[in-house]
Amino acid sequence: MVIVGNENAVAAADKLFSGERAPHGIVIYGDRGCGKKTLAKYIAAKLLCKNTSAPCGNCKSCAMIDDDCHPDFVMVKPSLSSGAYRLEDLRNVVSESVTAPNESEYTVYLIADLDKTPVGAQNTLLKLIEEPPQHVFIILTACSKEYFLPTVLSRVVSIGVSPVTKEQCSEYLTKNTKYKQDDINKAVSSMGGNIGMCLEYLSGSTLRTCCENAEEAALAIASGSEYQLLKVLTVCGKNRETAETSLKLLENIVRDAVMLGMGCEGKALGSSEKAARNLAEKYSVKKLGSICTLPEKYLTGIKFNASLPAAMGSLCAEIKEITG
Ligand SMILES: [Zn+2]
Repeated sequence: MVIVGNENAVAAADKLFSGERAPHGIVIYGDRGCGKKTLAKYIAAKLLCKNTSAPCGNCKSCAMIDDDCHPDFVMVKPSLSSGAYRLEDLRNVVSESVTAPNESEYTVYLIADLDKTPVGAQNTLLKLIEEPPQHVFIILTACSKEYFLPTVLSRVVSIGVSPVTKEQCSEYLTKNTKYKQDDINKAVSSMGGNIGMCLEYLSGSTLRTCCENAEEAALAIASGSEYQLLKVLTVCGKNRETAETSLKLLENIVRDAVMLGMGCEGKALGSSEKAARNLAEKYSVKKLGSICTLPEKYLTGIKFNASLPAAMGSLCAEIKEITG
């Protein structure tokens, strides 16, 4: 189990069980791709590995956790396709928690990525978090600590994870994957030290295409080429999901350009330094600020079923109107 960087988080995890009264639950928070699940598995391995230097990383228990098949490490799955948990999913955890572990001292429940689940659903887990059976340990994760109810946070230890440095990320990807160095460099340049997002970028998902679309659109805006902009937006407009992600990434680039214009360095996820710089050199902060609001406006339109190609066309026209 490799945890890159995040020394404070690992130290906090190691400290969890050193005191007299070990907690029965933790909250792990941090951006998507920053290693919440990896840290959760590290903590599960710490609890379930029977060797003295737990997690040893070599025993059957550690190997099963690594492969997501340990019977006492329960990764709860959301039953809605949106990724949200139903109340019933959480109630099941509560009712199953009375059952003794299969082969370990603990049953570790991981309820990951709660972000899309209504905040109030956490109340279902309150009793379990307050008075858990002796053998139960619960790990909850979400992107932001603010997602969690104060009543939950007051009863658990919370640990934050963050992106690592670009160098650490690049070194990890070079050592642990078979991707070409050139592709790794592109991924790190776009996603920074977010290992999970770099892996998604490299996996051939649409993320890479969307990053390239957004960069191309931003460069077209910077060079004042309405034709190029319309061309790339038309390509984006062929698929709803690609359009949504590309527009979000375009917004990140323009926002970085605004930051640069104000003399600050900003590097949002999936942004392009080159395109942000070109935009900042060409347009005033005021103009960039106006462009920055457009992707969100059209994203909302698309969500409410505006015609995708038409939306892309008018986005292009509106940008042209601002840039002159
Ligand atoms: Zn072990």
